[in-house]
Amino acid sequence: MPLKQLILNGFKSFADKTTINFDTGITGIVGPNGSGKSNITEAIRWVMGEGSAKSLRGENMKDVIFAGSEFRAPLNRAEVSLIFDNQDKQLNFDNKQVAVTRRILRSGDSEYLINNQQVRLKDIRDLFVDSGLSQDSLAIISQGKVDQILNSRPEDRRGIFEEAAGVLHFKQQKEVALRQLDKTNENLIRINDLVKELE
Ligand code: ATP
Repeated sequence: MPLKQLILNGFKSFADKTTINFDTGITGIVGPNGSGKSNITEAIRWVMGEGSAKSLRGENMKDVIFAGSEFRAPLNRAEVSLIFDNQDKQLNFDNKQVAVTRRILRSGDSEYLINNQQVRLKDIRDLFVDSGLSQDSLAIISQGKVDQILNSRPEDRRGIFEEAAGVLHFKQQKEVALRQLDKTNENLIRINDLVKELE
């Protein structure tokens, strides 16, 4: 499911609608300091459900909306879309192309869409977690991440390898299943007590 296109509109320094096409092979984005290279990777993380304004270098999520410049007034909304080629059906949709969109208004209202249909944040996270592209995946390595990996505690580093190997998703499912099992065992004990009382 190659990423085909990124469309930014009103996101951070991208006041005008900007489309970035990702052709086959490697795409390099170059530009002077402060020209918006990091804003592009942040836009990708934002669509994929990033919930922390701080990790997008802001105080409030509304800080991702174009804040104005010397020559332009601030905007009232930001919108970013990721367009995936889904011919390999890796994303759980029949469509050959899947468009994932997030938008936010200055009022604070926020919306997620998959192929122009409004969905919940959970639907976006579920869509990506099964494809190995979850928000915490190593598909995006931002500045400072390499240092963080090298300096992390052994148990945290193990988590990074588990994520890369695709084990983390199953580990999370196992934890949910074990919790359900505990609950069922408790219920069984309670039922046995009731049966004994009735005998
Ligand atoms: P470097 O090479 O130094 O890492 P960069 O090319 O990665 O720089 P970014 O950090 O992506 O650049 O972009 C920073 C620019 O984005 C700054 O000029 C900042 O003013 C601008 N910017 C950030 N948020 C907004 C916003 N909400 N509205 C307008 N401009 C913004």
